[in-house]
Parts: sequence; structure tokens; C-alpha cells
Amino acid sequence: MVRGDFGCAPRIRTTSGLVLALPYRCAVTETAAALVDRLTAIVPDFPKPGILFRDVTPVFSDPVAFGRVCEALAAPFAVGEGFQAVAGIEARGFALAGGIAAQHQVGVLTVRKAGKLPGEVLSEQYALEYGEAELELRPGQLPQGTRVLVVDDVLATGGTAAATITLLERAGYEAIGFAALLELDGLAGRERVGARVPVTTLGSVPA
Ligand code: AMP
Repeated sequence: MVRGDFGCAPRIRTTSGLVLALPYRCAVTETAAALVDRLTAIVPDFPKPGILFRDVTPVFSDPVAFGRVCEALAAPFAVGEGFQAVAGIEARGFALAGGIAAQHQVGVLTVRKAGKLPGEVLSEQYALEYGEAELELRPGQLPQGTRVLVVDDVLATGGTAAATITLLERAGYEAIGFAALLELDGLAGRERVGARVPVTTLGSVPA
């Protein structure tokens, strides 16, 4: 017997032989990695020719995927001493940091592009493939020694993540790990960031 009308929604059979259809939101079979793979859009030549942009915003707007990827990103770092705050890198890292922080009941630090934060800021310049970029962090928001997990959407060359780790250390925090939805092959980001903190991603794709 099938209860309810869920179209082609996933079904489970109980030990007594009863077949139950699950609403899509209850489907338990798709892993966080599979969700990222299925939902991430590939945008050629954005923001400039030759760049294969990975648009992860459909992962954020899917109510099942968002919570699940937040859980998966944080899980390797939640063991042992764990983390006491999550630093999100502007802008897509903010969404992930908020989700993880809410799940783990810790606070968020926002690592912003230059010129967005008022008052005293720490700044860190770093090299992009072409040109330079700069990130900023307000110091003094959490106690010295706070254990911070860093999150972003994509790990490419690792320059953004490395600059963020440097900013956190300059502010007196301990960066305990870096997590991203995707890493790009062949750009050595994992080696660069992994030399400083443990790295977790949910998938690896061509640059
Ligand atoms: P990188 O500093 O080289 O590791 O670049 C990582 C930062 O640039 C992240 O904040 C990403 O949002 C962004 N990024 C770099 N390459 C891509 C890409 N192909 N698709 C989407 N975002 C990217």
C-alpha cells in the first residue's frame, strides 16, 4: 500500500512489508557531495573570458541541500576540540558560515572585501591570477585564541583562503581548518592551504 500521492518521490519498504512514499524533503539517499554536483551551475566565460564559473547559489536555495552541505562541511572539524566560530569569506562564504554557525551554536566572523567595514580593520593583500585583491577583518570581536573554521564556496589557487587565515592569525585567533563546497583541479589550492590547516571539500572539478 502506498500512502499519499507523492508522484515519483522516493519510497521505503518497512520490515512488515508496508511501502511508504517519502516527500522529497525526507529523501535520505542523496549525499552532500551529490547535491553539490547536481545543483552547481557551470557558467562559461564569467566573469571574464576563459573562466568556467561554478555557481553554487542553487545549492543555497535548495532547502534540503543547504542544511546538508553545511553539516558535511563542518563534520570533520566538529570532533575533538572542535571550533568556536566560523569565518565566512565574502560573499558566498557568508551564507555557508551562517548555516554552519547556527547548526553548531557558534558565532560568525565576516571576512570582507576592502572598504566595506567601518572602524579599525586588519587588511591583507594577495595575488589573484591577474592583479591583486584585498580582504579585511575587524579585530577584537571574539576572545584571543578562539578556534575558527574558515568557509568559502570554491577553492581555486588558495590565495583567498590563505589571506583569510593570515588575517585571523593577526587578529589573535586560531584557524583550525578550511572547508569549501568545491575545489578546482590543477591550481594547487589544496597544497597551499593544506600546508597551514586541514582542508575539506565536497568535490573536485576541472578549473
Ligand atoms: P582563489 O583565491 O584562487 O582560491 O579563489 C577562490 C575565490 O575566488 C573564492 O572566493 C571563489 O568564490 C572565487 N572563485 C575562483 N574561481 C572560481 C570559479 N571558477 N567559480 C566560482 N568561484 C570562483
